[in-house]
Amino acid sequence: MTRWFIAILFAIATGGISASNMSGQSTPARPPVIDVHVHSTNTSPQDALERMKALNIRYLFVSSLKADLPIWATALAPTQFTAALVLPCDGGRAPITGRPCWDGGADLPDLMWLRGELQAGRIKALGEMSPQYEGMSPADRKLDPYWELAEEFDVPVGVHMGPGPPGAAYESSPVPFKSPKFSMAASDPMLLEEVLLRHKRLRLVVMHAGWPRLESMLALLYAHPNVYVDLAALQAPYMVPRPAYNRFVQSLVENGFGKRMMFGSDFPNLVEPGIDAIMGAGFLNAEQKADILCNNAARFLRLKADTCVP
Ligand SMILES: [Zn+2]
Repeated sequence: MTRWFIAILFAIATGGISASNMSGQSTPARPPVIDVHVHSTNTSPQDALERMKALNIRYLFVSSLKADLPIWATALAPTQFTAALVLPCDGGRAPITGRPCWDGGADLPDLMWLRGELQAGRIKALGEMSPQYEGMSPADRKLDPYWELAEEFDVPVGVHMGPGPPGAAYESSPVPFKSPKFSMAASDPMLLEEVLLRHKRLRLVVMHAGWPRLESMLALLYAHPNVYVDLAALQAPYMVPRPAYNRFVQSLVENGFGKRMMFGSDFPNLVEPGIDAIMGAGFLNAEQKADILCNNAARFLRLKADTCVP
């Protein structure tokens, strides 16, 4: 056999559903994944597409700024992602990066503009909503028109609840754009109950599952069946040490919410470790892993039934 023939055989073998390593043992194919927590501000559509291919990621929920919307819409097919708008923004600038969220320096987007974008389908969700970065409760009346729009257009909404950058309120915080009013008190999932009672048709995902407020998160999930959570960023051991991550995830499952937990990355370097954390969790069975990695998000985002077929 010539060298090129062997090379072709190898390419065919490794390109199939399950790859073979050099010793001939087959390694299982990567499970289907939906990543509900991607930011346009820390990755490019090209890199996101690469990761989708490499890690069998079927769909993304992309929290975006106005300027990033057309770039992602050009690079990705509508069947590959939901474009969401980040809000509110302190002086019109996004948390962490300080990039402009929309035109002008208002904390909230112009309602007429947003309605037009929702109508045109250029924005299909709201998120990551992070009033916590401005020390604002999600139940603040200023946000009411946005919850109303989400209900009217029947679009999903993601709300940041929980961890921010280390020492987020301080000048010493390692991110370029500081959030001097960042407040953990504004990240209690129970603050969302007032919002849900006023807006009963909301399709809400509590991002970061309200970590570390497990009890409050469980209470909200119990009483409000249209609430989901994502586990984004919690897989970073420098934020949540792995034993604590495992206990947190296990508690959500043991309390009966395994069908409402979704995978999220938040940062490009946390995609693969996050998938591995779920896949390696000894306390989850195969069905629970598949639900968290893909099936639950497909239901929440109302995607086609075959989105998560292995
Ligand atoms: Zn967040």
